[in-house]
Amino acid sequence: MKAALLRQFREPLLLEDVDRPIPTSDEIVIQVEACGACHSDVHVADGDWAQLAPIVKRPLILGHEIAGRVVERGSGVRDLGVGDLVGVPWIHWSCGQCEFCRANDENLCPSQKITGVTVDGGYAEFVKAPASHVLKIPSSLSSIEAAPLFCAGLTCYRALKKAGPLLGRRLAVFGIGGLGHLAIQLGRHFGAEVVAVDVSDAKLEFAAALGATQVLNAASSDVVKQLRRGGGVHLCLVSSGTKAAYDTAFYSLRPKGTLLVVGLPAENICFPPILMAAGEIRIEASAVGTREDLKQVLALADAGKLHCQIECRPLSQVNQVFDDLRLGRATGRIVLTPQ
Ligand code: ZN
Ligand code: ZN
Repeated sequence: MKAALLRQFREPLLLEDVDRPIPTSDEIVIQVEACGACHSDVHVADGDWAQLAPIVKRPLILGHEIAGRVVERGSGVRDLGVGDLVGVPWIHWSCGQCEFCRANDENLCPSQKITGVTVDGGYAEFVKAPASHVLKIPSSLSSIEAAPLFCAGLTCYRALKKAGPLLGRRLAVFGIGGLGHLAIQLGRHFGAEVVAVDVSDAKLEFAAALGATQVLNAASSDVVKQLRRGGGVHLCLVSSGTKAAYDTAFYSLRPKGTLLVVGLPAENICFPPILMAAGEIRIEASAVGTREDLKQVLALADAGKLHCQIECRPLSQVNQVFDDLRLGRATGRIVLTPQ
């Protein structure tokens, strides 16, 4: 099968012919129809996250927003059949027995396997996955529409769910890309008043069309000053992977405000403790999500309440797509198709 392989950090992926995966008794093989290109894939390929780099499999097939049809199943698989449309998320496998798994926080399982990081992912014609950790995709959604929900949609959903009740609160979303445009829709769904912040006027226009009531261009306006009018915002969700966005977001919060850490810059972020204390600021990070979260995300999309803006590109263009992501040129999500 054709696959895009990461052999060396910071080098282009190589399109090669590799063996099609063979399932163990509790796994399925999926013919990949769509795989979202997440900014995390670029960080993994570039070796940006020093703490993650040692566990990255190599050579590696990246990609953790996978949707496709089951074409083969192991002898022990009962709940899924050949032809089912399913998706594979970032959490490839979790143990089910540790304290985190037992508390429904399987995304924190210390034994977890990560799709497209510690095991091969979906930048290929086929991928295998444990039947226990894939989810069926509702029939109202195509594989292309569904794929980005398995990371981008899930990550925003869990971050906002953890933030507590949003009804009537002001939520500022920093970075209107693959995650940010979904965060706007989810924030509105949960009843928040949404402000969008980006440096691209085109992305801000898009944010307004999605229901942001205020849009601010961080390149041409003083975002902190604007957001602090009326006392600051209750929540800032930073989906941008830049440190500058975090610096702006922190100073835009009102007392008892919450900074939601979603985008992951390679550099450390830091804030003055005196201001954290004076405002009793909460800093809340969130790691993708669980299968239970994902079911709720798929249900929202099935009900027509969450739409991912998608640009389809062939897998053969993966290196150009990565350049577009590095330069922030993608609006919505780019989805790669192997055919
Ligand atoms: Zn992702
Ligand atoms: Zn576990």
